[in-house]
Amino acid sequence: MLAARRTSTFTESVIREMTRIAQMHEAVNLAQGFPDFPMPEPLKDAACAAIQGNINQYAVTWGSANLRIAISEKYRRWYNMEVDPDREVTVTCGATEAMASVFMALMDPGDEVIVLEPFYENYGPDAILAGATPVFVPFERPNWTLDADRLRKAFNKRTKAIVVNTPHNPTGRVLTRAEMSLISELCLKYDVWAITDEIYEHIRYAGEHHVMATWPEMRERTITISGLSKTFSCTGWRLGYAIAPPAQTAPIRKVHDFLTVGAPAPLQAAGAVGLAFDADYFNHLALDYRARRHVLVEALTEAGFTFSVPEGAYYILADFSELSDLDDVTFAKWMTQEIGVATVPGSSFYHDRELGRKLVRFAFCKKFDTLRRAADRLAEVRQKA
Ligand code: GLN
Repeated sequence: MLAARRTSTFTESVIREMTRIAQMHEAVNLAQGFPDFPMPEPLKDAACAAIQGNINQYAVTWGSANLRIAISEKYRRWYNMEVDPDREVTVTCGATEAMASVFMALMDPGDEVIVLEPFYENYGPDAILAGATPVFVPFERPNWTLDADRLRKAFNKRTKAIVVNTPHNPTGRVLTRAEMSLISELCLKYDVWAITDEIYEHIRYAGEHHVMATWPEMRERTITISGLSKTFSCTGWRLGYAIAPPAQTAPIRKVHDFLTVGAPAPLQAAGAVGLAFDADYFNHLALDYRARRHVLVEALTEAGFTFSVPEGAYYILADFSELSDLDDVTFAKWMTQEIGVATVPGSSFYHDRELGRKLVRFAFCKKFDTLRRAADRLAEVRQKA
């Protein structure tokens, strides 16, 4: 059979598969993390205007000047961080492509990359495609905290990088100042890079967003990845970016160019408009998600799930041990078919799948109507399970 060996070492995305199963059973889709409500009107208008204004050919491969300047201004405004739009920014097709390009541009076979688990499922295949070796360190339950000793033990002379995702998918943790300091201390001690995933930076209910690149001495060893998908509810636009020192930006741009040439030009033009929104927009976004979180927290508590309330991002990773003896995959399929609510099985966020056997992830980036419909259905779990 014609298929490269490297592809046999990872599976299809379970998150995307659950969306397909949800559609088949007409279940409420709380599986994949994409909003089912519209994105902001001014951005839609800006995209239409860009298309009508004939911005329909390739942008500069590493991103249109407007968008790169808007990104660098955002970092100055929000985080007091200086970013050179000409030499340090690469606009990519989503944060997903940024992560994959960064891995391929910076990792060599045999390099170890530390990944905290549970983890967003792309990081594993990203490492494999780059030939790097992921080394997994679990967050401690029940509150998904970092165990300093366990983390320390994962660092050694083969370690090249650590993936730092905060706010965290799927646990909802927002890493504390102390946790960030511990990670940076270990990076400095072992000459390790931080590759961050900050896609949920503006969706927070507690705590500050800590940008690793602003930590002392970390700017020169951090790749900052984020994007517009979650902040502007436009996951289908595929706009992400990687910020890195010039010496790392050069290879990242090469990989990105040969993989995709570039992100959609008219949408880049519109994205620059969104990044210039004032603080009201961003504050409102977080408050709005807080209200959505409340609906799901109540519903899951009443239904008998146990979980820690997320501090950021828009997921709840819930334990269903008290409701069912099934494993996570069977339980998630049963929920989709019999209850009509789709979730993501917990094991898909773990390298050691057993650790996720009693967990499912719910996404609450959904209309209030959708969440209430899910709540009504979830009220039946205990009785039917
Ligand atoms: N990040 C979102 C999630 O975790 C969407 C993933 C995707 O399908 N690209 O569900």
